[in-house]
Amino acid sequence: MARVLVAGGGPAGLAAAVAAARRGAETLLIERYGFLGGMATAGLVNPFMGWHAGGKPLVGGIFQEMLDLMAAAGGYGCERQPTAFDAEVLKLVADQLCQQARVEVRLHTLVIGAHVEDGSIACVATESKSGGEEPAADIYVDCTGDADLAFLAGVPCDEGRDGDHLTQPMTLNFRMANVDVEHMAPRKEINRLFDAAKAEGRVTCPRENVLLFYALNPGVVHFNTTRVTGLRATSAADLTAAEFEGRQQAHELARFLAADVPGFEHAYLQQCAAQIGVRESRRIRGHYALTGEDVVDARKFPDGIARSNYPIDIHSPTGAGTVIRSVPEGDHYEIPYRCLLPLGVDNLLVAGRCISSTHEAQSSLRIMPTCFAMGEAAGVAAVMAAERGIAPAEVPPEELREALREQGQVV
Ligand SMILES: Cc1cc2nc3c(=O)[nH]c(=O)nc-3n(C[C@H](O)[C@H](O)[C@H](O)COP(=O)(O)OP(=O)(O)OC[C@H]3O[C@@H](n4cnc5c(N)ncnc54)[C@H](O)[C@@H]3O)c2cc1C
Repeated sequence: MARVLVAGGGPAGLAAAVAAARRGAETLLIERYGFLGGMATAGLVNPFMGWHAGGKPLVGGIFQEMLDLMAAAGGYGCERQPTAFDAEVLKLVADQLCQQARVEVRLHTLVIGAHVEDGSIACVATESKSGGEEPAADIYVDCTGDADLAFLAGVPCDEGRDGDHLTQPMTLNFRMANVDVEHMAPRKEINRLFDAAKAEGRVTCPRENVLLFYALNPGVVHFNTTRVTGLRATSAADLTAAEFEGRQQAHELARFLAADVPGFEHAYLQQCAAQIGVRESRRIRGHYALTGEDVVDARKFPDGIARSNYPIDIHSPTGAGTVIRSVPEGDHYEIPYRCLLPLGVDNLLVAGRCISSTHEAQSSLRIMPTCFAMGEAAGVAAVMAAERGIAPAEVPPEELREALREQGQVV
């Protein structure tokens, strides 16, 4: 029987593991937290950014299935924010999808090493309450967001933009509850008050404006507003400093909202995410690197395995400002399968925000629906390779695309 090991259970890893198990592979999914979902749950990221062009969906398959299950459980979509979701419902649905597909899930387990022999991973090293273990598979799929497994296996990786290698900032998402949303100040007024509080030194967040979304729960507003720059998400010391700084900014913003902004008079800081949100860290070097021009030119590829029309969206790595470059209205670009194939390691696929791309392209492909689509493709490709005893690079892209279409994916 084909054996597939998926490292990381975020949007990409969840889809990869479910897709691989459904095709009959013995599938092990290793996740460091006590729940699945990655940034969607641990990072409290919300809502799902757009995945439609010209009124048609660009992502289907396991992502759409998950949305349907969440909607049936009352955990997806509301009038004010149609693609908002309840992270607790996503966790439950993710468990159910894995259990039904018979994915063997290992939570609370960290991938910390890879044993490579003759250019292939022989097994990975994990650490957990059970101690050190060395699970092995035929094909490995790195969905850690940070390309941890690829990096540990020796795949060349890049971080940040050309020149200074600075990545997009980290953001600690937080939520305010007991907000009088009916009488909440309009966004323009909130931003005017935000600028005034910054000028007085009461708010130190370097962002240019307040980015907020409605949550599903009545009276709860979600803030994607803190901004922590100049720190690397692949350094434990930097991550610690980022959590401290993000928390400081979140509490400062909560005090400002309650004191200055109409609608927030009786509001309180309900929750900060369990971990600071990481937009960008390592990107693998692979058989093809998707570029910013591919995104804005809506480029299609013969081996396209995922589609998106989300713009280039670069939050300034140094302070205020956000660069947006759109995909032509009604059109989309494709992500080639080659972006999932790392250089130097034969039996490894990579899916999610750390695939082979430039800093510019990564700022678009990183959104959650696209990561689900990439994960699903990687899971299917992994089984095709394992069953045939070939490397993922030898999987015929047209067969992969056909298999994805058969399971409702849009390629
Ligand atoms: C602040 C912020 C706001 C965003 N806003 C939006 C938005 O509004 N809409 C949208 O669609 N997208 C948004 N995004 C983007 C999106 O959330 C992420 O890019 C996406 O979740 C990436 O998916 P992934 O599966 O590649 O990685 P992740 O979601 O990061 O998942 C990786 C998983 O791997 C696990 N893991 C990592 N390392 C290891 C290891 N060594 N061993 C075991 N497990 C490991 C992690 O715990 C995690 O579960 C936002 C991101 C951030 C940070």
